[in-house]
Amino acid sequence: MVSSVLVPRRSRAKVWSLIVLLVLLGVVGSVSYLGWRQSVPGVASLTPPPRFVGQRTALVFTLEAARGSVARAEIRVAQGASSVVVAKREGALGRRVEIPVVLESATLGLREGGASVDVWARDDFWRPLRRHDRPVASYPVTVDLTPPKVELLGATQYVAPGGSGLVVFRVTGASRTVVSAGKLAEPSFAWGPPERGARIALIALPWDTTRGVPLAISAEDEAGNVASRGIPSELRPRRFPRDTIEIKDPFLQVKVPELLPQRSPSQSLVDGFLVINRDLRRQAEETKRRIGATTADAPLWEGPLVQPSRTKVFANFAEKRSYRYGGREIDTQVHYGYDLASTRQSPVPAANRGVVVFAESLTIYGNTVIVDHGLGLQTLYAHLSSIDVKVGDSVTKGQGLGRTGATGLAMGDHLHFEVLIHGVSVTPIEWWDAKWIRDHIAKPLREAGLPEIGAREEPARRAPARSAQRRR
Ligand SMILES: [Zn+2]
Repeated sequence: MVSSVLVPRRSRAKVWSLIVLLVLLGVVGSVSYLGWRQSVPGVASLTPPPRFVGQRTALVFTLEAARGSVARAEIRVAQGASSVVVAKREGALGRRVEIPVVLESATLGLREGGASVDVWARDDFWRPLRRHDRPVASYPVTVDLTPPKVELLGATQYVAPGGSGLVVFRVTGASRTVVSAGKLAEPSFAWGPPERGARIALIALPWDTTRGVPLAISAEDEAGNVASRGIPSELRPRRFPRDTIEIKDPFLQVKVPELLPQRSPSQSLVDGFLVINRDLRRQAEETKRRIGATTADAPLWEGPLVQPSRTKVFANFAEKRSYRYGGREIDTQVHYGYDLASTRQSPVPAANRGVVVFAESLTIYGNTVIVDHGLGLQTLYAHLSSIDVKVGDSVTKGQGLGRTGATGLAMGDHLHFEVLIHGVSVTPIEWWDAKWIRDHIAKPLREAGLPEIGAREEPARRAPARSAQRRR
């Protein structure tokens, strides 16, 4: 009975303590909720830090709100006492916002030296205590308004379509230099005594180069300042022969299944041939360009390239070929090399010293070897019946690379020989000719007072193995 009197009093106390507990929990909960709200980070800048500002610098700032969306963003450039707003965005900008900015240093009144690019931003996320606007990132930058200096020291005076040339120059204050011949952008290499700071670039003029194609050296520094200089080489016209090739069924019956094993049974042999002659030819061109991009940064060759002895030329460089089948023209293509015929399976000599950079089957070229002679100069040997070298092998002038054959799109046993500059086919005639090399490659170097490339026939041996290893 005693307990029955005490129970209600006890339960009242329980209720009260429960209420107090709930209130306390509520207060603690609210406080921690508000605390969490206050602690949510604001907008972050995900921009890769800019380091330089040049005469004209394009930057893209990426901002991201941790919660809610970016509500306001400003990009300012500060130097000394002045700070200029260069971009401003307001409104619901989304969780992530990209702000492209172009800084025109002259317009902004920037001087060379230190400055900072500041990003101010806030989000629309509610916090109990409103934050003051402040920079979410501040990037120290160097203002550099001086463009690189490009000096032309020499260049091949007369060039021709399908030919080669050399440019000698010096660039100061640049981080990237490109020698361009029309659409082609060629690399350059340091040459001569380091204190002269000279660079050289071999240039290829594709067979279809026309008058007015710009030849130029462009240099860019880290601040994006650009300087460019034209190369005053004169393009002389050059004519190329034409030829007609009759495609016969026995040829198609042998070559199409060999070169296009994946051909569907419904595709005719002629259609298969066109796939080979167009698509596989284009693939081979792409491979040549890719292989051309890996070259030794020093010349490995000496003297002119050698032509295999006792061979008969029966097709020329940049010959325009009309392919005829059943009395009508089905295709036209350009032949990028020299076809040299001798006895069947004759030895194929390396045209000069170099390193083997390709030794396998290459679509229409069949079994193919490419030898790198450095500075972008390479030679290609196609339709081989056998290959006796492997990638990475150093070869001497005249060393056997394999034997002639009729693999790939060849009608009979012969050597298809090409000279490539950065993977672009040029006429071998120039590189077979010691006088041409003297007048067109050695002369600009001589005039610039720099050592000639491979001038001596039998100089002290270099170590080509080193450059071969670097490429692997
Ligand atoms: Zn050929």
